[in-house]
Parts: sequence; C-alpha cells; structure tokens
Amino acid sequence: MKPTSNFLSHLNPSQRRAVEHFCGPLLVVAGAGSGKTRALTYRIANLILQHKVDPENILAVTFTNKAAREMKERIQKLFAEQMAMQEYGEKYDLLPEFDQGKLRSRVYRTVIKDMWCGTFHSLFSRILRLDIDKYVDENGRKWEKNFSIFDDSDAQSLVKEIVTKQMNLDDKKFDPKSVRYAIGNAKNQGFSPKEFAIEQPNYRGKIIAEVYSAYQDKLAGNNALDFDDLILIPTRLFQQNEKVLDYWHRKFHHILVDEYQDTNRTQYEIIRLLSTNDEGKKSWNWDNRSTFVVGDADQSIYSFRQADFTILLGFQDEFGDGLEDDNTRTMVKLEENYRSCENILEVANQLIENNTQRIDKILKPTRAAGEEICLFKADDEVVEADFVINQIRKLEEENPDLDWGSFSILYRTNAQSRPFEDLLVKYQVPYNVVGGFRFYDRKEIKDILAYLKAIQNPSDAVNIQRIINTPRRGIGKSTIDTLVRASQELGTNLWEILNDETSVNTLAGRAAKSVNNFAGIIKKWQAEIETMPVTELVAGIIEDSGYVQDLHTQGTDEAEDRIQNIQALYNAVSEFQEENQENEESVTLQKFLEKTSLSSDLDKLKEGDAAVSLMTLHASKGLEFPVVFLVGLEQGLFPNYRSMQDPAALEEERRLCYVGITRAQERLFISHARERRLYGSREPAMRSQFLDELPEDLVANHHQTRQGYVKISTGSLPKRSDRNAFTSNTQSDVIQNWQVGDAVIHKTFGEGEITHVFDAGSKTSVAIKFTNLGTKIIDPRVAQLQKI
Ligand code: ATP
Ligand code: MG
Repeated sequence: MKPTSNFLSHLNPSQRRAVEHFCGPLLVVAGAGSGKTRALTYRIANLILQHKVDPENILAVTFTNKAAREMKERIQKLFAEQMAMQEYGEKYDLLPEFDQGKLRSRVYRTVIKDMWCGTFHSLFSRILRLDIDKYVDENGRKWEKNFSIFDDSDAQSLVKEIVTKQMNLDDKKFDPKSVRYAIGNAKNQGFSPKEFAIEQPNYRGKIIAEVYSAYQDKLAGNNALDFDDLILIPTRLFQQNEKVLDYWHRKFHHILVDEYQDTNRTQYEIIRLLSTNDEGKKSWNWDNRSTFVVGDADQSIYSFRQADFTILLGFQDEFGDGLEDDNTRTMVKLEENYRSCENILEVANQLIENNTQRIDKILKPTRAAGEEICLFKADDEVVEADFVINQIRKLEEENPDLDWGSFSILYRTNAQSRPFEDLLVKYQVPYNVVGGFRFYDRKEIKDILAYLKAIQNPSDAVNIQRIINTPRRGIGKSTIDTLVRASQELGTNLWEILNDETSVNTLAGRAAKSVNNFAGIIKKWQAEIETMPVTELVAGIIEDSGYVQDLHTQGTDEAEDRIQNIQALYNAVSEFQEENQENEESVTLQKFLEKTSLSSDLDKLKEGDAAVSLMTLHASKGLEFPVVFLVGLEQGLFPNYRSMQDPAALEEERRLCYVGITRAQERLFISHARERRLYGSREPAMRSQFLDELPEDLVANHHQTRQGYVKISTGSLPKRSDRNAFTSNTQSDVIQNWQVGDAVIHKTFGEGEITHVFDAGSKTSVAIKFTNLGTKIIDPRVAQLQKI
C-alpha cells in the first residue's frame, strides 16, 4: 500500500524530518507536548508504508504498557485511515462502523500483531523466554525457559534470608532493604557480582557483593529472575553469545525508544548492542538500519531507579561515531508545543527554569492563552477533594466537549487517592486508578477491612479465612482446612470452632496456640465494639493484628506504600467519625463498613467507558488530558520530605512537577491544604515552595473553607513569610501527634500550651508557652511531656 499524499501533512517540518529519516541514528530532543511520541508513531507507520519495512523488523520501546497499547492503537488507526482512502475512497471516520471494524482487524492481523512494541521489561522477558537456556553466568549458573519472575517482595525476602540466616549478618548494619537496593543499583548499572566486588573499596561493599552473589545463586536455584535481571541478563547474553546477538540484530532493523531520558546504563547497553553487531567495537553499519530515540531531559524522573539523562545527552557521541561530525544529521529539535494553552506552558517553562542542572531549550506555544491557572487553598484534604470533585462535575455538566475521560487528578503518592475516590463514589462519577488499584481494592485495605468485618460479624467465615494467617502467624493451610472441615461436619460456623478452645486444642501444639491467639484478638475487640470510639477500635485492631509491624519488617518501598495506605484508611475512619459527630449521628463500626462496601462495590467500569483518571505523577508521564488537577502541593509531600535536604533530589521533584503541569491541555488546577490528616490527627501543612516559582500574573488564587468557596485574587500570590523557619511537619512523630493548641504537662516546667510544632526531617520539636516560665522549645521525645 502506498501512503496517500496527506499522510505526513499532520506534522511540522522538523517532525517530518524525524519521520522521513530512514537509516542511521537519530535523536529527537524537545520539551513536553512537542509531538515526540507523535513523530515516533508516524515514523513506524512511515517505515512500513513508505520503506516497506516488515513490522517484524521493528522494535519499539515505550515506558509503560499503557503507552505501548496506545501507540499500537494509533498506528492501527493511521493504517486504517490510509486503507479507507484507498479502498473506499472515503475518510475512515465517515465509514459505517462495520467497515471500520473490518479495516481495523485487517490492520491488526497484517501489521500490529507482528510488531515488537512494549516496555523494556516486557520485550526483553520475551527474548529470554526464547533464549535464556543459552546463557551461563560468571559462576556457571543457568536458567530454563520457564523461569519465574520474582516481584519486589519475593526478592526482598530472599535478600533477607541471606543476610540474616545464611550469612548471619547483623541486619541493623546490613539492613536488607538497603542491601537489596544496592544490588538493584549494581544490576541497573550493568555489574555482575564479581565485577561489583572489584569496584568495592571497603568492607561493607565487599559484603554486599557477597550477598549479591548468594542472591543470584538463590534466584538460579529457584529458576527465577528479578525485574532488573530481565534487562541485565539479555545484555550479558548478547555480550556472551555472538550467535544469539546476531539473530536479534538481524531481526530488529529499526529500533525506536520513547522517553529515552529515563533509560539506565543497562538499558542503554542493550540498545547499543542491538544497534551494532560488532560487539563493543563501535563499528557501525547503518545500511538499512536505524536507531531512533526521543526524550526530554527536563522530564527525567526515575533517577531512583538509576535512570540517567546524561545517556540522552551522549547519544550523538555514542551512536554518531563514524558519521560526519554534523549535528543536524543525528539530531532533530522540536520547538512547538501543541498540547497546552499558552498560560499552562508559560507556567511550566518558568517553573523548570529554577533547575540548575539543565540545558535551556525553546518551547513555543501554538495554542491560545487559555484561562488562568487556578490555585486553591483548601482548609484540609477533605475540602480539597470536595473542591476538585465539584469542579469536575460542574465543568462536565457545562461543557459538551468534556466527558469524564477529560479529567485527571495527579498526586505525589498513591495513598492520597482516598478522599477523592470517596467523593467520586458518592457522586457516582466513574473513575479509574491508572497504574494501580482503586483504594478499596488494594490488598492491605481489603485485609484490614476483613479484620473489621470479622470483628463486626464473626460468622463471616470468608473474611476470617482471609485474615487468620495474614500476616503470617504459623497457621498453615492444612490447619485451616481441618478447621473448615470440622465446621462443615458439625454444621456450625468457623468462628464457633475457633472460639472453642477444646476443639482447637486437638490441633498440633503450635497451630493450636496460634489459633487461640488469633481468636483472642477477635474476641477482645468484639467486646469493645459497643463502647469504644470507632477510631480507637480501628487503631487497636491494626496494632494487634501485627499487620503494620509485618510490613515494617519487610521494609520494601512497596511495603512502605502499603503502610501509607493503611494510614489513609485510618484517616478515613477519623474523618467519618468527625463528620457524623458534627451531624450528631451515632458513629458505629457497622456504619463505617457499610460506607466502604458501597465504595468497593461500585460497578466496575467497562473497558472504553469514559472515566476520570487518578494516578501518581510518575504514572502520568507521556499522557495528556484537557483538564488536570495537581493536588497536595505542600512542603514535605510535594516536594517530598526526602528531597528537601538534597538539591539534586529537589530538582527531580521539580521535574516531576513540570511533568504534571505539562499534562494539561486546556485547564490546570493546582491545590494545597492548610491542614492534612496524618494518622488521624490534623497537622498543619505549609504550601509547596514550587508555588512561589509560578508566574504571579497567570495564577488566580482561590480559597475554600468548609463553609464555602471564595475567589481571593488574580495575579498575586500570598507569600509564605516564614518558609525557612518552619518546614511542613507532615513527618512529625506519628505516635504523639503534637498539635498547636494542645495543653501539656512537662515533668520539670509544669503546665503549658503548644504554640508551634517544628519539623526538621525526622525530628519534631515543639514550642510550649509555660504558665510560669514563658516559651521554651522542647524535643518531645527526650523531654517527659504529656498531653492533658
Ligand atoms: P511528552 O513530552 O509529554 O511525552 P510529546 O513530545 O511526546 O510529549 P505528543 O504526545 O506526541 O508530545 O504530542 C502532544 C500533543 O500534540 C498530542 O495531542 C499530539 O497529537 C499533538 N501534536 C503533535 N504534533 C502535532 C502537530 N504537528 N500538529 C498538531 N498537533 C500535534
Ligand atoms: Mg511523549
């Protein structure tokens, strides 16, 4: 099929150059929304249509599976449009649905099915499924093609076992989490255990190298790989086995990588190896071949996974070797932004200029100025969510062009989704959590709710079975089966058996003890259900279940996220209690559970239904929405507290903010709360320093209290007067929850009232005005301080 003449007319001249470039290396660098991904997509279509490249010979790497799906859909549509013109002499969109479907499925069969388009992990695990049996590592370890892929927590348990049991190391000095992180780093930088060992200057490093080696032994013993191996092992395999490399080199003539600024050393190496078959010698033969990468250093947001944007900056030197030293042959710059209204773009450009580690570039608007950016100050996170959801409902109703799919809510951490989800459910607005689970579908939330349900209604055998050994407390599957069978035979429910010590004591010694302990927990809290405030009840159950403690010992980032989610659940309980008390309604566990059941039972969306998208900023990379809400712009939350002492990390947070802002096409709303719940108590929150970096004349300030919504001003931001003196205290001691206004008693100084809470990293101190002594600043963990 020949492309029609208008095929490339949807591109500007620079994009066209990138798309029409046939062989050799090419780097496209450009800011957000300048059509990099569009150029990459059209390029694939052009290779097939114009240059007759077989789709099988194309390798296209995207950053997420969703991006890969979208890219395939776009290519499918492009082809279908071409075919419609040629075969029906009619525009695709004007054809009857039946003919459109016929065209699409034909394109799928002839083009899309054979293309290798996906993430690094998905593409290279596919290669390993075919070839891993040809790989031997430096210690002679081998894997078979049916290998398992260990997730983060499997990997973490292995490391822990090696540290504590096999090597008998002190897990305080060799914290399994940081050891695992160091191993991941080594893999992402391309080091095998032996190479890593040579690099280590000190004892600690050498021990970690030993753990790394033992860890690879265990993985091989289980015929398993971790995520990082999915990239490192193909790299090694290609280096080791010329025949294998040659096969894949011959297969992939044209390689395309989107979001190249977020590649790490190992990913770079694999692209380099596939681009030249003369291993390591940099002698390129670009006949009928190309390597095409697109990226934006300002959107590099994965340095915690060793992404390194200097790889992008070095592309021309590395891949352009042997070609004429002419910049323009190996690089295209795109300088027009097609995505965002001018005001949004201007705000993004001004923000990112505050970074020192960057190369300035041009990004000109092509769209009208659009409306001002709205900045909301909400009283707390509930008011923030209320405002956001009301705006969405209002805009959706007033604008026929917008459907639910036009909106997205972007936050820094997953645990922030809960208040938004509750209101979306309340108003029956369809929504999706992109790249994660809806709050009430998350495993840890279901587990904790299962405890609450079991306590509320012990006859509920399903929930009891869910939690009887969660977290693990030595009640094995066979014990549970025995108990369930006994309940069936006796015609009673499971709880009655568990609750009957004589029956339980017939089990083998350890199991009996564990079952009795578990039954004890349920019984204890059941007795409190009528009298104890719901918040206390829930806090007590979370504590007694050992669930959070277990997550703390796992120590992975994923476990950390789960803990945050459990805290968010606790916040939901405390919010629920407060609301109902305000309305003078009785607050019971049962009512709370009813509310959560409604949230989780909302009809699941059908694929393709328009829905509001909720996601973390990291998950939003590459996407776009007509209306974007960027929420939780508070010191300690965004930028997150870890970055506040580290200038490089702070710049990465700023890039993340730039990514968030540049997702918006027409409207951008940014919000922050004055107070935020942290484990149930309200903590004052300080507005994010990024807000002070936005151009004042483009931002309109709004404020919403519980009583209503007020527009304060257009064009001038209230300045934070005391930003340096106090930082956010979202990290304050979660157990104590000191708050301004608390009456306290100090062992030596007597009674007083807290006037300020200061937080410096993990250390909280408080200012107390003592009745007789004036104000003193005190570290509450050292001083013997009590609330009265
Ligand atoms: P990001 O850096 O966020 O990944 P990007 O550079 O990949 O952005 P695209 O997503 O390809 O940008 O394009 C942004 C928007 O601009 C898309 O809606 C795209 O369809 C549109 N667009 C790109 N190029 C053109 C063009 N030449 N004419 C009109 N619209 C365009
Ligand atoms: Mg893109």
